[in-house]
Amino acid sequence: MTKFRVPAMRSRVIPLTMLAILAAAPLAPAQQRKAQLPKSVRLYVFDCGSLNIPDISPYQLKKEEIATTTMSVPCFLVAHPKGTLIWDTGAVPDTQFKSGGAPATLRYATTVKPLKDQLAQAGYVPADITYLSLSHFHWDHIGNANLFAGATWLVRKPERDIMFADPPSPRTEPANYGALNKSKTVIITKDDYDVFGDGSVVIKSTPGHSPAHQVLFLKLAKTGPVLLSGDLYHYPEERKLNRVPTTEFNAAQTAASRAAVEAFLKKSGAQLWIQHDFTANAKLKKAPEFYD
Ligand SMILES: [Zn+2]
Repeated sequence: MTKFRVPAMRSRVIPLTMLAILAAAPLAPAQQRKAQLPKSVRLYVFDCGSLNIPDISPYQLKKEEIATTTMSVPCFLVAHPKGTLIWDTGAVPDTQFKSGGAPATLRYATTVKPLKDQLAQAGYVPADITYLSLSHFHWDHIGNANLFAGATWLVRKPERDIMFADPPSPRTEPANYGALNKSKTVIITKDDYDVFGDGSVVIKSTPGHSPAHQVLFLKLAKTGPVLLSGDLYHYPEERKLNRVPTTEFNAAQTAASRAAVEAFLKKSGAQLWIQHDFTANAKLKKAPEFYD
């Protein structure tokens, strides 16, 4: 396990105005934050908007084969007795909201609620977050990554490399995650990465959609096991009709990852939550309600 550490002496320059704000609103003491951690694992689902897909042909699906062309964009917070994990951060950064409450947009994404506000309603601020992990580097998953630059970033090397490649990939928005460059970082090398060491929150390697795409397995006491898909599938019909998009990083890897996940779902009895499945996502409880 390789760790990137910010050299201790490279202190950040804080503008005077920021210092004034910090002085006026001191951060909650560490003990108070610990008190927010639940006794058993909780999963919060945030509404991070939707995608108005301009052309579905790359998904190898026809309009008449799918229920809707719109995709949902959820973000997730896992609260564990030992810490917290943010999984995917939406498409549109909170900074895109203008005063007046109008929806914020980026490319073909629209969102109506800042992630920070939704997080606050669940009882957390970004500084409370222990870990950040992204299913993959595409623009519609990294929108608010900069909010969590103070967390420890759990990432695989091929994915981190492509995020900071020069020139950048057109499939992402480097400005929206640039601050992660200096985050405390854990490079994941195992296929399965057990975040809190008790098997309840496990990041699983599923390459293909992107070089080191990953999914998240959760063991929830009442809900049962759940697997968050990342973009292993987008439309639920991809799964039903066995279609692989033409725009995958490596379609053969996607097929292999899908086969491995389907076998894992059978074995574990986990539900698969396809993150971009608009119809299924609409039925999920949203924060501050949670699954446990
Ligand atoms: Zn996506």
